[in-house]
Amino acid sequence: MNYNTPRTVVIGGKGNIKRVEIGGNSPISIQTMWKEGIVGVQNDRNALISISERIKKLHLLGCDIVRFAVPDMESAEALCAIADVSVLPVVADIHFDYKLALRCLEGNVAKIRINPGNIGARERVEAVVNRCREKGVAIRIGVNTGSLPSDLATAVQQGTIDRAHALAETALREAAVFEELGFTNYVVSMKASSVQETIDANEAFASKSSAPLHIGVTEAGPIIGGIVKSTLAFSHLLYEGIGSTIRVSLSDTPENEVIAGREILRETGKRAGGVKIVSCPRCGRNGFDVHGFVSRWQNELLSLDKDITVAVMGCVVNGPGEGKHADIGITGTGDSVIIFKHGEIVRTIHPDEKTAGNMQQKLNSLRENADKAFREELLSL
Ligand code: SF4
Repeated sequence: MNYNTPRTVVIGGKGNIKRVEIGGNSPISIQTMWKEGIVGVQNDRNALISISERIKKLHLLGCDIVRFAVPDMESAEALCAIADVSVLPVVADIHFDYKLALRCLEGNVAKIRINPGNIGARERVEAVVNRCREKGVAIRIGVNTGSLPSDLATAVQQGTIDRAHALAETALREAAVFEELGFTNYVVSMKASSVQETIDANEAFASKSSAPLHIGVTEAGPIIGGIVKSTLAFSHLLYEGIGSTIRVSLSDTPENEVIAGREILRETGKRAGGVKIVSCPRCGRNGFDVHGFVSRWQNELLSLDKDITVAVMGCVVNGPGEGKHADIGITGTGDSVIIFKHGEIVRTIHPDEKTAGNMQQKLNSLRENADKAFREELLSL
């Protein structure tokens, strides 16, 4: 089936905040969600600086949008302060109380996420829509299987509609309310925790609406299970042209959600460029701590503004050969570490001689010297 190209919704772009186009033919954007509470940060300069720095790092890793839970008025005030120091567009995630959305809209938030199903009377939704219209702020209508309208929840129980189609129908109804209000600056998400329901709901909605879709599998689980679920759902939908923004929801860090998102977009051909890390799984032939190096270097490498492949291989026997397509690679023999470029060895690194008598000191020295040399070679690319 052919789906319509979604219309474009723009968020951010004011001052130093990144401008992000959602929908149309724009690149698919990556979102994550802040995992900590934010109450009080507006009165704590160091906390604000640290949040601002972490958002900058998320941006370097490939994140486009960051969402914050706003469960109370204190959080709404804190979010306004964060929105003033964030390089990424900040989204306020609101449930139940529309006044929280109105408070956030006094600040520089770029988007409001509401679930109209739990906001209550239509006048409350209207109040949020009207304020967003005045301020040029977008809204995400976020529905999930836990908040279906009662007629659809009953129909699901009676088996006359499946949950995915009930979810899509809920989103279509909410979207119709926004259209009636003449407000089209919105994105829609329908979250289920099953891969198949996520696919079916998004397909059903996309066949009837040109609103851009934010896709995600909710409560996806710990890092491995969560990435598997999101990859299955996203790859299917993205190949069909459905999905303008994604979030890989994990019981893990925002950084890992962003990295997983960018890898999915890269492997589905939706995002090109950047650093690609290839690393061997390691086996009994290894003479280099592949796992340690990758976990130590991953985020720094993925934050570089370079279009390169980095190979991290466990042994000299196979490493430079298997990694010869890489722009830069690293491997080792146990006693020394070797850096290669396009399969040719350019550096052989040894531990400092003075550490020879002490195995631990020798290993530490080898690791430090190797990291230093690797950084030098990397920067010269
Ligand atoms: S590169 Fe070497 S250590 Fe890594 S998996 Fe291959 S043979 Fe094993």
